[in-house]
Amino acid sequence: MARKWVYLFTEGNAGLRDLLGGKGAGVAEMTRTGVPVPPGFTISTEACVSYYQNGGKFPAGLWEQTQEALREVERQTGRRFGDPKDPLLVSVRSGAKFSMPGMMDTVLNLGLNPRTLEGLARLTDNGRFAQDAYRRFVQLFGKIVLGVEGERFEHVLHEVKRGRQDTDLSADELAGVAAQFQEIIRRDTGKSFPEDPPEQLRMAIGAVFGSWMGRRAVDYRRLHKIPDDLGTAVNVQAMVFGNMGNDSATGVAFTRNPATGAKGIFGEYLINAQGEDVVAGVRTPRPIAGLAEEMPAAYEEFLRIAQKLELHYKDMQDVEFTVERGKLWMLQTRTGKRTGAAAVRIAVDLVQEGIIDETTAVQRVDPALLDQLLHPTIDEAAKGKARAAGDYLTTGLPASPGAATGAIVFDPDEAESLAKDGTKVILVRTETAPEDFHGMVAAQAILTARGGMTSHAAVVARGMGKPCVSGAGELQIDYRAGTLTVRGRILRHGDPLTLDGATGEVFAGRLDTVEVSLAREFATFMSWADRKRRLRVRTNADTPHDARVARSFGAEGIGLCRTEHMFFEGERIDAVREMIVAASVEERRKALAKIEPLQQADFEGIFTAMDGYPVTIRTLDPPLHEFLPHGDEEIATLARKMGIEPARLKAKVEGLREANPMLGFRGCRLGIIHPEITEMQARAIFKAAAACQSRGVKVIPEVMIPLVGDVGELALQEELVRRAASEVMAASGQKLEYLVGTMIELPRAALTGDKIAGVAEFFSFGTNDLTQTTFGMSRDDAGRFLPQYVEMKILADDPFQVLDQEGVGQLVQMAVEKGRKARAKLKTGICGEHGGDPESVKFCHRIGLDYVSCSPYRVPIAKLAAAQAALGDTTRDR
Ligand code: PEP
Ligand code: MG
Repeated sequence: MARKWVYLFTEGNAGLRDLLGGKGAGVAEMTRTGVPVPPGFTISTEACVSYYQNGGKFPAGLWEQTQEALREVERQTGRRFGDPKDPLLVSVRSGAKFSMPGMMDTVLNLGLNPRTLEGLARLTDNGRFAQDAYRRFVQLFGKIVLGVEGERFEHVLHEVKRGRQDTDLSADELAGVAAQFQEIIRRDTGKSFPEDPPEQLRMAIGAVFGSWMGRRAVDYRRLHKIPDDLGTAVNVQAMVFGNMGNDSATGVAFTRNPATGAKGIFGEYLINAQGEDVVAGVRTPRPIAGLAEEMPAAYEEFLRIAQKLELHYKDMQDVEFTVERGKLWMLQTRTGKRTGAAAVRIAVDLVQEGIIDETTAVQRVDPALLDQLLHPTIDEAAKGKARAAGDYLTTGLPASPGAATGAIVFDPDEAESLAKDGTKVILVRTETAPEDFHGMVAAQAILTARGGMTSHAAVVARGMGKPCVSGAGELQIDYRAGTLTVRGRILRHGDPLTLDGATGEVFAGRLDTVEVSLAREFATFMSWADRKRRLRVRTNADTPHDARVARSFGAEGIGLCRTEHMFFEGERIDAVREMIVAASVEERRKALAKIEPLQQADFEGIFTAMDGYPVTIRTLDPPLHEFLPHGDEEIATLARKMGIEPARLKAKVEGLREANPMLGFRGCRLGIIHPEITEMQARAIFKAAAACQSRGVKVIPEVMIPLVGDVGELALQEELVRRAASEVMAASGQKLEYLVGTMIELPRAALTGDKIAGVAEFFSFGTNDLTQTTFGMSRDDAGRFLPQYVEMKILADDPFQVLDQEGVGQLVQMAVEKGRKARAKLKTGICGEHGGDPESVKFCHRIGLDYVSCSPYRVPIAKLAAAQAALGDTTRDR
């Protein structure tokens, strides 16, 4: 006996999603629970898989079972397929396990031909309706099953309508349209339109199977990591008509507002229309509440069913319905897509209504959606208008979320001075460097033409919670001319610009942005996530202000304080430059003495903001040339200011030039060659700690040495740090508890984790550099090819954004294991940008890290991901 391939709606249920696809399982479940659903059946995903194994032929028994199921539908509806007197018509739709754009859409009114068409006209006493149904069928079948370009049909329709609505066309006109459609099909395919209903059905089923391996569907699956061997189901269902007159209607609705989450039905409908008219915008649909007046009985029943479905699925539903001559039919139900704000509100409301528990609520919200909640966004309608007006410019990397609008400024100093006067500016640079920091602080957002997701601009912007689009390679920036050119369009200094850092889109002009305010539900929701997680969540913060922001988002300490980020504040850059230019150790010490009290004050501010929580402070890391100007003019100005010969400064700048600065004189190498730098920083840290402790602040300092490759490097630096600690303790009379540890940013450090843990009390994985050094890809230059690598599917994701678990992750795991063997209590965390990426956070949980550290605005995202990881959720529904 042949396998069972075909399931009547009465035979399925919600649990059979793998077999029946999302749509099939949904209609079966509705049928099972007594919701009025037009009868039908589902051809299983297994049949589709078999079809492919069979070399594109129906597997044995499939067609017989289909005909049998069709007979059952005939029995249930009292109509017969192909019967000229009272024809049964069906819809045919694809329906995979995951909803997939790119799969075959719907064919409606299948079973029509010149004979059944007449029957339909007689039966409904409505010739126009029958002709309209036929016109739609030929159009859909021609486009979807026979592959004729849809535009050809639209063109004919447009010509006939001449500005009128669809509903204004007469029966004769519609018949003429259908005839023209058939002529197009004959010409394009060389065959006449199939008139035999069973043949039509056979072809439609084959087309659904075929679309599973269509280019768009395959691409979509690659992108969303959906396996190819799932197959799609095919749903065949008796037609009901929302276009049978003014007592008929069709609509779509959500059981709660998908934008805000507010309770209550939300949707729209059209009287005398068929399903696709609502979505296609042929006529403007009316808000659903209008149905209460136009069809009170059907509306009442619809409300009752919508509520029942929501309760049944315990989640907000997205439903489709049709009213045929006053009788309500439900056509589809599925979990509704929603914004971040709605996701949180719905989850909290459902718990408070007793429908789900807290654990389910925490598992349900996609952490990435929280990003929207914490930043302003651009109104979608405004984007649409801007596109239509030709104001869309380009898309770069979505480096830091949020939307902003402001005047184009190329110079950081100017950004600062304009911002002081209250002008909103966007800083546009080829790429940014630490010396641009003040301009970045002053700007509403940052746009760069070069640099990847961990470029300076991206990291700093994320830290500040400021929108940033980086690596927008189509931009040509001419600082001298003060112009920004994109594919021939020239924008000038001062012109308005709008960025969407969440998508990377760039628009000319000012687009309306929408502020989001954190609702009460957010705090409730986060408190549940906090109770479920094991991983601690710290923040990367360099200033007392950022530390306070991070605390307000729930950060539990600082995982990375990049000390150099404070070097540009106020006047201190002068002393830093003096230190760099110093010709002798004495001179350098003198300059360092100026910096020390300033650093101490910063650390006091940070310790105070993080009272009771650990603060990891990293010693100086970047190559020194980053602190010096490079242009002749700037060098001359600075030399004058410093009272030295321009030639000497220029020689110093030249001398610091490196072919590959990321692998050059940076990280702990600076403190090894110039120990006085580390000494100064360690003293500033411990003096700040002692001062805070004496004021009753609980300080937990952790001193971190960057870019260590060999334990010997760490040992030298550790000795300096411990000596400074002892001296400060002796001088202040305060006993200080502290840790000395290292960043793991080089493969060699990971490979020798056991030796390094002999000295280090903690490991913090600097996965930005570790990704750079493992792949051998510069984090600042990868923007030129990485997007294409992802597009070409060489890599699944940008590894600077989503941790490469296979390679970089393996090194992390190995270092943790080796490190813990040498030191059981070794503390482990991650402070690269991956610390705020949900999938990477889940990985960190699985390999047993103690904490993740991310920019302040990503703290809630990391917390939620950590909670979901603890609840065992590693793969999400797509
Ligand atoms: C890292 O390399 O991952 C890191 C956190 O340090 P930075 O980004 O400052 O190099
Ligand atoms: Mg690093």
